[in-house]
Amino acid sequence: MSHDAASRYGESTRAIHGGQEPDAAAGAVATPIYQTASFAYANVEQAIARSAHLEEGYNYTRLGNPTITALEEKLAALEGAEACVVFGTGMGAASALVMGLCGAGEHLVCANSIYGATQGLLAGPMQRWGLQVTFVDAREPSQVARAIREDTRLVLVESPSNPVLRLVDFEAIAQLAHDRGVLVAVDNTFATSVNQRPLQHGIDLVMYSATKYISGHGDTLGGAVLGRAELLREIRTVEVLVGATLSPFNAFLLLRGAQTLPLRVERHNRNAQAVAAWLEDHPLVQRVTYPGLPSHPQHALARTQMRGFGGMIAFEMADDTQARALANAVRLCTLAVSLGDVKTLLSLPAHMSHRFLSPSERREAGITPGMLRLSVGLEDVDDIIADLSQALAQMEA
Ligand code: PLP
Repeated sequence: MSHDAASRYGESTRAIHGGQEPDAAAGAVATPIYQTASFAYANVEQAIARSAHLEEGYNYTRLGNPTITALEEKLAALEGAEACVVFGTGMGAASALVMGLCGAGEHLVCANSIYGATQGLLAGPMQRWGLQVTFVDAREPSQVARAIREDTRLVLVESPSNPVLRLVDFEAIAQLAHDRGVLVAVDNTFATSVNQRPLQHGIDLVMYSATKYISGHGDTLGGAVLGRAELLREIRTVEVLVGATLSPFNAFLLLRGAQTLPLRVERHNRNAQAVAAWLEDHPLVQRVTYPGLPSHPQHALARTQMRGFGGMIAFEMADDTQARALANAVRLCTLAVSLGDVKTLLSLPAHMSHRFLSPSERREAGITPGMLRLSVGLEDVDDIIADLSQALAQMEA
């Protein structure tokens, strides 16, 4: 489905048909898994032409593969993006995004509320390789503006952020960065293209851990970067050279998952809204953070920027002991990292996804010792609430 054709169809149609035509070789309706390392050339002339990129076609799976291409076309159709590059993991996508757009000695501005490993990548290996990074509270556009320097190449933010669901005003940040000739990238993993399309608000690049809602079934890893084709050229080159390639089998799983993305996200939104409202009324729960609740400090921005509020909730018990006790008491909810699964997953950010941050970095990022992160799944919402209710009741006893 071309960029133009994609704009003619509705979201569910794009999710189902984007990138997936019956296979030319045998008419297979489900896109085949091209489980091959290399592709045979008809003759030496074709080998030379393809190797020099003078003829379209495949050479070697690290450089491209039809199952992977199908996924890239589907995700681009869903996001309304000109182009997409997919990766073996979300961190592969984040690494190639930064390495493709920034060089040693250059500067990047990053939100201080961001996935723990992204923070770790930028604060650790990337700085050792000479990238300069300033972390700011990106809820405040003025903080981003102040951090931008002559040598800044990229502003990287997450909205809603992992795990505390802070939002970033896309239009404000895009405008102030573009005024200074700086690109802006958004990690859209929590919201998905169903709930918000940052590119429509002036953002230059969107990245994903496709492991999460795009897969939806918790059975594969994957990543993606989307945006204008000219921006993605160098990002693809990095991917190919560092070998952050997605496997054809995992591309197949992600293709299957992405077909139901709009349907699933609609239900995640509905279940999470109900669970968040229920938690907010519980006396043992100190605070609930969910963009769909009027109590969220950026609820007004969420209403203008998002079409739905997502499946992720952060909530706080009195302290670490209570948070641990609750996590040990659930029966239906699964204590596990990751998110966006059909199953409801519960995690303790301070001990799990964000354990590498120092206590002061965690404080700045709003991650308290008593915080739990809930990825609300697609079970019957009454069953999710009943499980949380029985777990909380054990603590009252
Ligand atoms: N971005 C966000 C918001 C995430 O939550 C994660 C993983 O949890 C990543 C990026 C990294 O993705 P992956 O684990 O697929 O490498």
